Amino acid sequence: MTPPNVNLDPDLLSILVCPKCRSEFRVDDEASELVCTNATCALAYPVRDDIPVLLIDEARQTTNDAPQNEAPENA
Ligand SMILES: [Zn+2]
Repeated sequence: MTPPNVNLDPDLLSILVCPKCRSEFRVDDEASELVCTNATCALAYPVRDDIPVLLIDEARQTTNDAPQNEAPENA
């Protein structure tokens, strides 16, 4: 048996909430991420060495409907 990528204490997981929107998480085992269950937030936070990194700066946006073509940069 291979251990799951994300091996969090269920009691710990139950008290964790998204720092952005205060929603609960679901565990994405394959991606080793905690994914916010709020569809409008939908940030995925990395789990490193079984420690969730609940930093918005470290989180990844998982929604596909984010605007792709924002204002072009005037480089
Ligand atoms: Zn959230």
